[in-house]
Amino acid sequence: MKYDYLLVGSGLYAGVFAYHMIKKGRKCLVVEKRNHLGGNVYCESIEGINVHKYGAHIFHTSNKKVWDFVNGLAEFNRYTNSPIANYKGEIYNLPFNMNTFSRLWNIKTPKEAEAIIRRQREDIQGEPANLEEQAISLVGRDIYEKLIKGYTEKQWGRECKELPSFIIKRLPVRYTYDNNYFNDLYQGIPIGGYNVIINKLFQGCDIILDTDYLENREKWNSKAETVVYTGPIDAYFDYRYGELEYRSVRFETEILDEPNYQGNAVVNYTDRDVPYTRIIEHKHFEFGTQPKTVISKEYSDAWVKGMEPYYPVNNDNNQKLYCKYKELADKEKNVIFGGRLAEYKYYDMDKVIESAMNRLEKLEII
Ligand code: FAD
Ligand code: UDP
Repeated sequence: MKYDYLLVGSGLYAGVFAYHMIKKGRKCLVVEKRNHLGGNVYCESIEGINVHKYGAHIFHTSNKKVWDFVNGLAEFNRYTNSPIANYKGEIYNLPFNMNTFSRLWNIKTPKEAEAIIRRQREDIQGEPANLEEQAISLVGRDIYEKLIKGYTEKQWGRECKELPSFIIKRLPVRYTYDNNYFNDLYQGIPIGGYNVIINKLFQGCDIILDTDYLENREKWNSKAETVVYTGPIDAYFDYRYGELEYRSVRFETEILDEPNYQGNAVVNYTDRDVPYTRIIEHKHFEFGTQPKTVISKEYSDAWVKGMEPYYPVNNDNNQKLYCKYKELADKEKNVIFGGRLAEYKYYDMDKVIESAMNRLEKLEII
């Protein structure tokens, strides 16, 4: 047998795994369905701009070990994510903070904002039962109606009342004038784009692109002792118990003959009538000064077999179904399931890296 590890997929999980294994002298083969490495963090250079091909990716973490690791692979810039929301032409700062409250209610102090939100959340009694109740109890009804309802329903394709409350808990709510979208200690974009990191992670591996592992798994399995599978867990088991639900995303990317289209990397369109959820202007991630600009309109789609699955939909039904697949996965010999799709978790990049590191620690590689 030639390889120690067969990595199915070439996202961050597989990359972190491969990087450490190669350092320990293990032989790794990567089989990737797409025509490039990197999974969802892959960047394509257009007009000298690193275009985040699968959606805006901002690195943020509070885990020093993860931060040190990625900084060993690339230098990070000082980008701080501060998206703005466009609601029917009105502009608000995100996440929800004193700038948002002041614009919305023409107030100045945290006390005034707290009083308004307290009044607006009065009808929610007890523990919030769904995303709508959670949102109103966090920021009141005005913000829910203007900045959350439309965006969330476009993003997830269902009513806020039918969505779990944890989705919205990701967003900070602050009674300070602070537009930083994240609470994490560390944040930035790798200078030169994510491919700088990806190329280092897979150095020393043999790589096969444009190839779906599941179409010929016996052949690929025979090439290695152990498989590290980072694709969808339900696909691995031929959807034996049924399909897990995902949301997919579609991007319409345009090159514009102007240097600065929207003055910010991310603008969310929070009303229902605009069909896309946000517009990304990629150059602003790296403070680009190119004469042209590249923008991507992001549309959220229901996922059907054959499309790229992007977001796991972690509601109770899907979670139950995932647990059944997880039981099968635990019984599978010589296969490691890892990453956003194989663990069916709404992981950010740092959490995926952490998950791979935990696995490597268990294997006593790091
Ligand atoms: P992936 O990157 O999904 O890699 C899996 C790879 O496996 C893919 O390349 C796929 O083609 C391949 N594959 C699947 N099945 C097969 C098969 N059968 N055969 C061969 N290859 C296969 N995180 C942040 O921290 N900050 C952000 O700002 C952020 N923004 C995001 C925006 C969007 C729109 C999305 C969708 C995600 C965002 N994330 C963000 C999350 C981030 O993309 C993920 O946490 C991370 O990229 C997941 O890495 P992974 O290795 O688990 O999976
Ligand atoms: N959200 C919202 N309005 C916004 C931005 C986000 O209501 O302008 C909600 C939405 O439900 C989204 C959740 O907050 O799914 C988490 O947002 P985040 O930006 O973290 O989502 P991501 O696209 O990174 O998964």
